[in-house]
Amino acid sequence: MMEVLDPARGVVVAEVAATSLEEVDAAVGRAVRAFEGWRRVAPGDRARLLRRFAALVDAHSEELAALEVRNAGHTIGNARWEAGNVRDVLDYYAGAPERLTGRQIPVAGGLDVTFHEPLGVVGVIVPWNFPMPIAAWGFAPALAAGNTVLLKPAELTPLTALRLAELGREAGLPADVFTVLPGRGDVVGERFVTHPDVRKVCFTGSVAVGTRIMAGCAAQVKRVTLELGGKSANVVFADADLEQAAATAPYAVFDNAGQDCCARSRILVQRPAYDRFLELLEPAVKGLRVEDPALETAEMGPLISAGQRDRVGGYVDAATVAFTGTCPAGPGFWYAPTVLLADSPADRHWREEIFGPVVSVLPFDDEADAIRLANDTEYGLSGSIWTRDVGRALRMARAVDAGNLSVNSHSSVRYWTPFGGMKRSGLGRELGPDALHAFTDVKNVFIATEE
Ligand code: NAD
Repeated sequence: MMEVLDPARGVVVAEVAATSLEEVDAAVGRAVRAFEGWRRVAPGDRARLLRRFAALVDAHSEELAALEVRNAGHTIGNARWEAGNVRDVLDYYAGAPERLTGRQIPVAGGLDVTFHEPLGVVGVIVPWNFPMPIAAWGFAPALAAGNTVLLKPAELTPLTALRLAELGREAGLPADVFTVLPGRGDVVGERFVTHPDVRKVCFTGSVAVGTRIMAGCAAQVKRVTLELGGKSANVVFADADLEQAAATAPYAVFDNAGQDCCARSRILVQRPAYDRFLELLEPAVKGLRVEDPALETAEMGPLISAGQRDRVGGYVDAATVAFTGTCPAGPGFWYAPTVLLADSPADRHWREEIFGPVVSVLPFDDEADAIRLANDTEYGLSGSIWTRDVGRALRMARAVDAGNLSVNSHSSVRYWTPFGGMKRSGLGRELGPDALHAFTDVKNVFIATEE
């Protein structure tokens, strides 16, 4: 049994049975058999089932959101967005089965066509920071492309995934097409890697585990998509709208209590604007509403666990704190938003992913310096560029090595545009039109016409 806690109160809210190795193997067997039927469901019917699934998620979005507030400590506003994102991702990929077209390539003596064939059983492994969206980014395109899916939620946050699987069945998905297997990473997740009948692993989580998964998949030449960590830069040039840049910077890093792989946790400010930016940032950070995530006004909730709170604190203890915001006292895994001044890019808090409400600030001199500092990291997931100079914005956007950049904004994720990392932040892309191809293999067929 796994205990599920409410991180805002630190109390147990549910117990969930952990799937054993034998149960995983049995589920893989069922998913293999279900695949034969699911791949043959007519495209229009598969589309209809996914749309019905989306409609049920929509109808239950308040229930799903409340479950996420309780299980992950997400603010109710964020949790509603997350349930809506699952609906939208399902709706978007419901359009795919009828549009998964191949090509016809001119050849002599016959007809040459390509098909996008589903892979078979896909294993999706999800972290605790965004349990609903990250699950859907894997299962929706995988199902649309004709695969069957086994999904392992994080140990700490299995509740919404289990509910989504029920809604999928209620929508009419055939048995064993989409199965949620809560349990341990080194049991359930690891078995997705080693079981020869799981043909692809779609993993989101830490670099350490992702590296291990990639190595394990290599042994079977198993397909793999990795969405790993980040240490993204928010680069503010002196010519930017400083008021806007400072007002939005806290949300770009403290959203979801900083437990966001896209968090802009390194703020680079051009030297002439450095003091003014910090002056503007302070009230924005102090004004952030950190409170019971069930309140409509909450802008930030607690961290996921006591362990995570200790980890985050470990980075702050040894650093120079510029200022902090506030957070509730008492039970629950609370941590106040914290702004650190980096002495140099060698500082540990500047280099490592903290995955908490902590941001580091460092001045830079010019464009070349900004590019050098922004890219001086093993990660490359997202980032922001603030400037009024369009040419510079474009030069920076091309020069910063990251998969998802925004100019004069902090947006990273839209379900219809590609999402993923460069360097150690990952491999492959999720969402958008490209994701389907990560769940299919191209088959080329030549048909002779010569008599
Ligand atoms: P984690 O890597 O410890 O766990 C992620 C998932 O992998 C969990 O479900 C876990 O049970 C499972 N797992 C653990 N060991 C395993 C193994 N040996 N084999 C197979 N599966 C295993 O990460 P976490 O602490 O849950 O999540 C936080 C990390 O995830 C952060 O580093 C963050 O940057 C990253 N993340 C990245 C993205 C992205 O899209 N790039 C999104 C969210 C989180």
